[in-house]
Amino acid sequence: MKSLWNEEEAGRYQGELAQRVYTSRLLGRDASLVLHGGGNTSVKIKEENILGEEEELLYVKGSGWDLATIEEAGFSPVRMAHLLKLAKLRSLSDPQMVNELKTNMTKASAPSPSVETILHATLPYKYVDHTHADAVVAITNTANGLERVREIYGDSIVIVPYIMPGFDLARLCAEKFAAEATEKTVGMLLMNHGIFSFGETARESYERMIQLVSLAEDYLKQHGAWENPVPSAERTSRLLGNTLAALRREVSEVAGFPVIMTLHDDDRTLAFVRREDLGEISGQGPATPDHVIRTKQKPLVGTDAKAYAQAYKAYFAEHSPTAREPKTILDPAPRVILHPEWGMCAVGKNAKAAGIVADIYKHTMDVIEGATLLGGYRALPNKDIFDMEYWDLEQAKLRKGGAPPMFAGEVALVTGAASGIGKACADALLRRGAAVVGLDINEAIAELYKRPDFCGIPCDVTDEEALADALERAARTFGGVDMLILNAGIFPAGCRIESLSTKEWRRVMAINLDANLALMRECHPFLKLAPKGGRVGIIGSKNVDAPGPGAAAYSASKAALNQLARVAALEWGGDNIRINSAHPNAVFDTGIWTEEVLKARAAHYGLSVEEYKTNNVLKVEVSSYQVAELVAEMCGPLFAKTTGAQVPIDGGNDRVI
Ligand code: ZN
Repeated sequence: MKSLWNEEEAGRYQGELAQRVYTSRLLGRDASLVLHGGGNTSVKIKEENILGEEEELLYVKGSGWDLATIEEAGFSPVRMAHLLKLAKLRSLSDPQMVNELKTNMTKASAPSPSVETILHATLPYKYVDHTHADAVVAITNTANGLERVREIYGDSIVIVPYIMPGFDLARLCAEKFAAEATEKTVGMLLMNHGIFSFGETARESYERMIQLVSLAEDYLKQHGAWENPVPSAERTSRLLGNTLAALRREVSEVAGFPVIMTLHDDDRTLAFVRREDLGEISGQGPATPDHVIRTKQKPLVGTDAKAYAQAYKAYFAEHSPTAREPKTILDPAPRVILHPEWGMCAVGKNAKAAGIVADIYKHTMDVIEGATLLGGYRALPNKDIFDMEYWDLEQAKLRKGGAPPMFAGEVALVTGAASGIGKACADALLRRGAAVVGLDINEAIAELYKRPDFCGIPCDVTDEEALADALERAARTFGGVDMLILNAGIFPAGCRIESLSTKEWRRVMAINLDANLALMRECHPFLKLAPKGGRVGIIGSKNVDAPGPGAAAYSASKAALNQLARVAALEWGGDNIRINSAHPNAVFDTGIWTEEVLKARAAHYGLSVEEYKTNNVLKVEVSSYQVAELVAEMCGPLFAKTTGAQVPIDGGNDRVI
């Protein structure tokens, strides 16, 4: 592990807090040191308050901030004098501690200080860095981890036995430090948890962290237990879509809410899940308290989510203390599912959470494999895992946590999603918390959004093989499809019947009608497995009820699609799948309606562009956004008791009314 310190870069961070920001980001750049909000850093700074009095403040990482991207605003200033007094108390409950930290900040808008704040305060150094480095955790999580770290570090660090994060840990660290630190001390190691380094400058503290973790990595390498080459693995060629969707349905059922489930089948993951001792090594539990909350006590090996949930409830009953404050049981669904053939499925209440679970578990794999090669992995004892998982502070978050978004944990597939009404539908669904798979013939769909809850797939909807591939990918990425939005379609140039070629007719039918039949048919197994019931939203057209001359192929294709939707509503009601259609008209904020086309069409009717745009009963313009909002709501609870409906969104059309 190399120091990433760069003089020129560092020079752009002027001041003690800015330097703290710089080296915190350096730590954050290495995922084997800190991951997704893990780890924390601090600096002690003397400042003058509004009364002109000088006071010492501890600027410590605030919750909700990631070291990789932290800014000055991400550090919470807490009064040192108060922290040092708190550290001398005999005991302090977690909620009391959180209260003391929050009420002794000097900036009301700062984030809540880290739960490790008091620990930072008691270390008598200007800069303090703390990570949950994989290499350190791998060594401490072995049977004779204590002897090993003594061998590696000698008297350069103070070693603290495992204790749950919080006040008791801070106090124990302070005591250990006072009793054992010498002028040689450059760090403090917390068994089964992580490591602290400190120094008088940001650079000194950071580079000591790199040195300390490098020693652990070198030790592992000497024992053949680190950065071993990963053999390339053969991915299963079986189509897993339906199997994955069925598993996600079961996991959602035991969780009590829909979940996103993402399959990972990279070489590293496959090498791990195909180990012969998988059940044994993965069954022991997480490596650090930091990992417990996100990945739960243990992964599910295999596919029996119901049995996992039962075991989880039994574990709760066994470990939950009855004398203390009663705990709210967490949902008993697994977060990590390991399958020797497919790889790893990561589960979360949304795509971002599932991504964090996957990242953390991939590091857990490194830790477990390293520790196993060192002689045997030892997770935290069950009791400690329970205490961490059912921590008062986590329970408080559960009680606080408000209603989830409308489509949290659900997956929508939208065709023609790169622009116009399709893109607006994707946006409307994303805003409501759904993960969205966007299909479009335009290659730009792949790059439309860089966010974990969007997957853009270039796809010609008239190519049935491409559709099947897209659905397989949707299932591997998010675990299924719950909502299908049929939007892709074309509006060909005006052409009277006497000049309409069969070829043109068939082209329009292939895109506007046949592709939708194929997609509905192929999607049916997924929609049937949707945890909250399947939904199909159809972008119809005013032309269904009020066709126009010169649009025979278009009008006929939309009318046939409309009949298809009505029959589907009849056939699929028993599968708890709802199908509803929106019939828009004159939506001009889409790609096909350039300024020129608009002018030409308006002139054709002898209208101004403005008159042409609002040529309806209400004299209003209809936008893609409004159509998309209607379609999204049709998939939501407002339309829970409605299927087979057709709702115009056209400003009122006298031929339809
Ligand atoms: Zn920690």
